Amino acid sequence: MTSKTWFFDNKCPIHIVSFESKVLEVINNYRQERYRQQLESCGILMGEKRGVDCENVNVTHLSTPEDTDERTPTYYKRNVQGHQDCLNQLHNSSRGRIQYLGEWHTHPQDKASPSHIDYMEWHKTCRYFKDIPVLFFIAGIHEDWLGIQKNEVLYLPTYFENGSY
Ligand SMILES: [Zn+2]
Repeated sequence: MTSKTWFFDNKCPIHIVSFESKVLEVINNYRQERYRQQLESCGILMGEKRGVDCENVNVTHLSTPEDTDERTPTYYKRNVQGHQDCLNQLHNSSRGRIQYLGEWHTHPQDKASPSHIDYMEWHKTCRYFKDIPVLFFIAGIHEDWLGIQKNEVLYLPTYFENGSY
């Protein structure tokens, strides 16, 4: 298993996003390979921000579905319970190094692409995290989708590479 890195142009407040292989291994367990016979999964992405302007992001941890999340084969609603505890623990044990970076969920699609509901939810999330860039990751069955949104603006990657870690 390898890490994955996405590159964004200079207009985006974050230029490089890397997912560590251990994060991708966990996500692989939730991919909806049986399409609508499987529930959508969701959680939060956590990790480090590096660089002078925090322009490099390394996703090192994630939370996974909780019993309190609402999940169907084509819909999810992540609740706060459990996910927040996971973040608090990592934030404390790393002395603030590991922080909230964004949201992930799965889709029953070969090639993941956001739904209208996703865009609406992300706007709400970004209103909450005012002036902070937030990662939104969708795991497809074969191909993933990653965007970064800050306030009202969504940024898409310009380049993607698989790398060994
Ligand atoms: Zn979705």
